[in-house]
Amino acid sequence: MTPTRLAERTALVTGGGRGIGRAISLRLAAEGALVAVHYGHDHQAAQDTVKQIEADGGRAFALRAELGVPGDAEAVWDGFDQGLAAVGAPAGVDIVVNNAGVTLPKPLADVTEEDYDRVFAVNTRAPFFILQRALPRLRDGGRIVNISSGAVRIGYPAIAAYTMTKGALDVLTPALALQLGPRGITVNTVAPGFTDTAINPTLADPQIRSALAAHSAFNRLGTPADIADVVAFLAGDDARWITGQWIDATGGVHLGL
Ligand code: NAP
Repeated sequence: MTPTRLAERTALVTGGGRGIGRAISLRLAAEGALVAVHYGHDHQAAQDTVKQIEADGGRAFALRAELGVPGDAEAVWDGFDQGLAAVGAPAGVDIVVNNAGVTLPKPLADVTEEDYDRVFAVNTRAPFFILQRALPRLRDGGRIVNISSGAVRIGYPAIAAYTMTKGALDVLTPALALQLGPRGITVNTVAPGFTDTAINPTLADPQIRSALAAHSAFNRLGTPADIADVVAFLAGDDARWITGQWIDATGGVHLGL
């Protein structure tokens, strides 16, 4: 069957070449969207993602823009506009997924001013200005999904500054949802829990893996596809009545005492 749920839609996925972003790119493309796979450094991963989408019968292109540096948002949209023109697609965007992010695994005492500025520049400043510049391109009925973290709802001293970056982004979601509601555009946050990607190198240790898995009600780590499925739901018409929400996609991490 030809996928039609997101047919005629164009999506931008930041950090769409690896990890959770790759799963989101693959899933949105499988639903029929033309996907702009943004990446910062890993050209090969982005190319592989585009090739995988094309091999599965979908449409995608890669665009590079380093986030966390002056002019980053402008570079993202320049690359997006050029990519659309190169594949002969009409200008504009329907789905924006702010997924790219970096962690900062340091307790408060060890965080330098440079560390702090960097993690905020990539995780908070970049999505803010990406969304600002998305506004004139977003078609009515569009979708915005910001990727946060389940760590925001618990105390987690080891990554306090990182969690602050996500908390700030979370506050933008309902504000933008109210602003864009009259145009039928929804804005939501998806918060993953412990998910099996390269962002957490300690997952290579089997003991740490099982300890983190045990925080979930399902006693396992999340997979990128677990998160991508939630994003794909929010990106489609079935989620038209959900906006301004913080969706916990942690597999029930820390539900009880
Ligand atoms: P990941 O595997 O490390 O992927 C990070 C992605 O962000 C990559 O695609 C990377 O692209 C991009 N990126 C990072 N820094 C960038 C920069 N300066 N400029 C441009 N792109 C940049 O991590 P992940 O687990 O998939 O994380 C995806 C999102 O989920 C992040 O926002 C993260 O905070 C959030 N999250 C993850 C977990 C988890 O346990 N995995 C939990 C909660 C929330 P390049 O390699 O091409 O630069």
